[in-house]
Amino acid sequence: MKLSFHGANRDVTGSCHMVECNGKRILIDCGLFQGGRELEEENTADFGFDPERIDYVLLTHAHLDHCGRIPLLVSRGFRGEIITTAATRELTRVVLLDAAHLAEEDAVRQQRRQARRKNGFLPTPLYTLLDAMNSFDYFGRVASYNQTIELTAGVSATFYDAGHILGSASIRLELKEQGRHRSVIFSGDLGNKDRPLLRDPVVPPPADIVVMETTYGDRCHRNLPDSVVELYAAINAAFARGGNVIIPTFALERAQEVLFYLREGVEQKTLPGSIQVFLDSPMAISATEIFARHPECFDAQTLALLTSKRDPFQVPGLHLTRETTASMALNRVTGGAVILAGSGMCTGGRVRHHLKHNLWREDSSIIFVGYAARGTLARRIIDGAKTVTLFGEEIPVRATIHTVNGFSAHADRDELKSWHTQTKASRTFLVHGEESVMQSFAKLLPGRVEMPQPHSSYSLDQ
Ligand SMILES: [Zn+2]
Repeated sequence: MKLSFHGANRDVTGSCHMVECNGKRILIDCGLFQGGRELEEENTADFGFDPERIDYVLLTHAHLDHCGRIPLLVSRGFRGEIITTAATRELTRVVLLDAAHLAEEDAVRQQRRQARRKNGFLPTPLYTLLDAMNSFDYFGRVASYNQTIELTAGVSATFYDAGHILGSASIRLELKEQGRHRSVIFSGDLGNKDRPLLRDPVVPPPADIVVMETTYGDRCHRNLPDSVVELYAAINAAFARGGNVIIPTFALERAQEVLFYLREGVEQKTLPGSIQVFLDSPMAISATEIFARHPECFDAQTLALLTSKRDPFQVPGLHLTRETTASMALNRVTGGAVILAGSGMCTGGRVRHHLKHNLWREDSSIIFVGYAARGTLARRIIDGAKTVTLFGEEIPVRATIHTVNGFSAHADRDELKSWHTQTKASRTFLVHGEESVMQSFAKLLPGRVEMPQPHSSYSLDQ
């Protein structure tokens, strides 16, 4: 029995862990590295294992940093079975198609640039739309929460609600080999309690070994009600100045959560009834539709809204902009608009255009409601950059910058600690966190704690 690590090691993106047992190889997640060209180059590098020899991929959830290398895995020879929950399966399709589309667009842009420089080297996309579509052929069984799936003799998997995004799961593997018996639980990304829409993460089952995320392992979030008040105040202040509000959003979960609170704000008259909200993200629009199809993942509050035939996301004055032309028309809106656009870390997507048109304006506000990894544009703005470069132009940062961290879809330090305690594990591998954060979190844990290096492997026999 062996466990090896091929992404999100002493860093937050590219989650990919491998278990070997009874001659079978099982991947937990196969995520994309994100944040800065250097890190992204890791995506084109070797996986650190042979994709042809992987038998199963178990996906914890549909975020790109957990599923984004799947088309690459398939194009390099993977022919096994991908298992996810039903909601993750639907969301992953949207996410992978979007990623392939962006990769193709990016490659075309780079090719034009190279051609202008008369440089013979032509960049190719990491993967194409066709690669993404081909990878859908390998999605096999659908996992239901709390129901054990037999993978092969001596290996079974159970998915538990992680409360992070729609369909997200922690995955527990039961391993038996030559009379030895081990249980390993992979936390996936863990959500936090008492948020709207989704249920809280469930109490995890016991396990001998834990592989867990540590995104916010060193801090506690502001509580959500305070963050909602902060969000409303920031929007009202920008409107009073005559500006717009740009909210860079992750298309999954955060966008829906922000819509949920904007609707509440208007209903409670904390936000003006004249508010114009633009959900400028084809992916977020599709994700919102997928949400409505999976009531099995909703918490009681959202179910109650739906059973009273009220759409939890229907803000008055909501515009869904799928078309690029409609998105570009938003550049002419000078005030009174809340624009939600991706990507959340501003590494690509339509939000970069909205930043170009609003960052330099003193009357506008940019509100960050999610995690921003090192090396991303979002992080540079949050850290106080005076100017940023967008589409080859240097743009001064004059807008008011807010970070409202209570919307985080990640458990904070105390929640992570209590989740770990509930597993009763004596051996822990920390992943998906910045190194300093992991070190501080490791001090809180009992037993053996490891922080694996990329491509390191560990025997689970002792
Ligand atoms: Zn996630």
